[in-house]
Amino acid sequence: MDITHEDRVVIQSLSPYWHEQRVTALDMLRLDLVHPVVSGNKWYKLRLNIMYAQDHGFKTLLTFGGGFSNHLIATAYTARKAGLACVGVVRGKYPVLTPTLQHCVDEGMQLIFVTKEDYERQGEPEWEQQLAAQFDELYIIPEGGDNEWGRKGAGLISKFIKQDYTHIALSVGSGTTLAGIRNKINAQQNVMGFVPMKGGTYLTEHIASHLVPAQNCNWQLFDNWHFGGFGKRTDELLSFMNDFYTINNIPLDIIYTSKMMYGLRALLTDDHFRSTDRILCIHTGGLQGNVSVQDKLVYR
Ligand SMILES: *Cc1c(COP(=O)(O)O)cnc(C)c1O
Repeated sequence: MDITHEDRVVIQSLSPYWHEQRVTALDMLRLDLVHPVVSGNKWYKLRLNIMYAQDHGFKTLLTFGGGFSNHLIATAYTARKAGLACVGVVRGKYPVLTPTLQHCVDEGMQLIFVTKEDYERQGEPEWEQQLAAQFDELYIIPEGGDNEWGRKGAGLISKFIKQDYTHIALSVGSGTTLAGIRNKINAQQNVMGFVPMKGGTYLTEHIASHLVPAQNCNWQLFDNWHFGGFGKRTDELLSFMNDFYTINNIPLDIIYTSKMMYGLRALLTDDHFRSTDRILCIHTGGLQGNVSVQDKLVYR
């Protein structure tokens, strides 16, 4: 099954004006163009999972997410396209559905709302058996697509990454995409993960545990640019996004990629890089999450 438009993916150079020519190259891999719904990295994390589920006769996909999870929407959409039933386990209660959750329902996803405590039980065999008993031939994908197929699928993104880039920058949620890419590209290339959560470097150990030993090098997480925490935003961040769009003609999303580019810009002005460095930033998508700030953006 291939439902996306990989042929639309391009590598776009950012304006030298934006990066003040502090590095030799600063390019962006536009994975946001892969698909309007299953955007960016989500398709890569899901595709091998779906293939596995189909090959092994599973009939229902179940996964986990919060009320603003791009992963939930992507799973709902791909499951429908693959002819699989689909269940989303959502952390918390939403008497009024968020636009994301409404979108999931529109794609045919059945939602189950659970307490934070129950949500934390994902991965427990007992709970998984209870869930499996309720649905037809259930295949469970962890939150964020964070399993071996998710990482392997994310590793496929490496085909777009040329060896002459010294640094690869990307945004991090579960770390699945970072681990998949780190495992597949040249060990000498530096991978910089920008975490939009407070104290996000707690992910370091988790990510390291999924790296092949020879590849567990030259990677680092940055969590200083969370703007108050996951999903939090400031006027400064919004005007940064608008400026970025005006100068580079690239729309960023409010949750992930805007915070990454803000952080990268801070590092550039802080002389973190050498003038010979060549940076590739990965646009992991997420643009549908901008609905909540649409009236504050100069683009849609
Ligand atoms: C989900 C998502 C991420 C995080 O990816 P992980 O593999 O969970 O680290 C980054 N950027 C965007 C736009 C996303 O939607």
